[in-house]
Amino acid sequence: MTGGNDKVLSLKDFRHSLHRHPEIAGREVETQRLIRSQLAALPLEVLPPLIGTDTVAVLRGKRPGITVALRADIDALPVEEKNGIDWKSEIPGMMHACGHDVHTAILLGAARLLCQEEFAGNIRFIWQPGEEKRAMAKHLVGAGVLEPMPDWIFALHVAPRLPFGQIACRAGTVAASSLHFAIEVKGQGGHGSMPHRARTPIVPAAEIILELEKLRQREKGVTFSIGVLQSGAVDNVIPDTARFGGTLRTFSQADCEKMQETFIAICAAAAKKYQIEVNFLPSPDFYPPAVNDAEAVEIVRQVAGKDYLAAPKPSMSSEDFAYYLQKCRGAIFALGIGRHLPPLHNAGLLVPDEIIDKGSDLLRRLALTALRRHVSAR
Ligand SMILES: [Zn+2]
Ligand SMILES: [Zn+2]
Repeated sequence: MTGGNDKVLSLKDFRHSLHRHPEIAGREVETQRLIRSQLAALPLEVLPPLIGTDTVAVLRGKRPGITVALRADIDALPVEEKNGIDWKSEIPGMMHACGHDVHTAILLGAARLLCQEEFAGNIRFIWQPGEEKRAMAKHLVGAGVLEPMPDWIFALHVAPRLPFGQIACRAGTVAASSLHFAIEVKGQGGHGSMPHRARTPIVPAAEIILELEKLRQREKGVTFSIGVLQSGAVDNVIPDTARFGGTLRTFSQADCEKMQETFIAICAAAAKKYQIEVNFLPSPDFYPPAVNDAEAVEIVRQVAGKDYLAAPKPSMSSEDFAYYLQKCRGAIFALGIGRHLPPLHNAGLLVPDEIIDKGSDLLRRLALTALRRHVSAR
């Protein structure tokens, strides 16, 4: 990245600099420094970090009014980039494969544009770390990023499956909840020649997995999968423990809780049958379902005009913007970057630079429209 005295970068150069130096959840130190260096040239109040690598800036209008917040996520992924570009990732095994470099640049562009506008009210810009992992929106909200509470909050996510510039949104649930979990089976190890003297954890683990698979095939509107399965190291030794884990996705918190209860019941039945210990271990880094406010979606639709597309169903992917939406009226929408592109998180995804100006202008218009909108009771 650039040295101590950062000059004002074009949005394209800013994005390329981020793309060259991707940083994963919670480690966005240089990313934060670069964002802050660019904000120094603008008439904004930049707040001290709330949780570490976040950046929050406030733009006050000429007259009093309501507050609109705009949020971008800034973290990268542990993916090895496979693009042949001269600004490709310079950090081995790290890549901006979810387009958060572009989100970061779009929000900077919106801040630059909005600094030239006259309006009543305030605009809060939030560059949030750790969306991909650790659901750091939860920590940022807990640390007061929504205090005082904005009247509206918006965010966008680039979308490879949409035509360039098209905007897809929907009222209600837009993204599923995601719960990472592990199941730990504790038996008693022993010699491979004497299974009757041991309590293998492997057979009950296999049985639980098969029961879960049957459950998955029965349930509608929820999905889960096992991504890790670990036990033993030597052919002739029965191990003490087996451990496997996965993610559970649902469209409501109630479904998530119901499914966890079923998982626990399956584990308890296996524990009883095999006289062993089975523990269901949900991760604290939970992503709740993201639920858009209908009136906020109406503002998005109005601003998007002919580019608007009503999304027919929610996505099974998760988004920690859900934590803001639990407290504040708002919406997250998809901004198309071209149908021909590979999916998000793919090592060959290259989000076109051209979407940055388009996204910045969109957020500018969205903020100004929302600021003028009378806030009705929810
Ligand atoms: Zn992602
Ligand atoms: Zn993302």
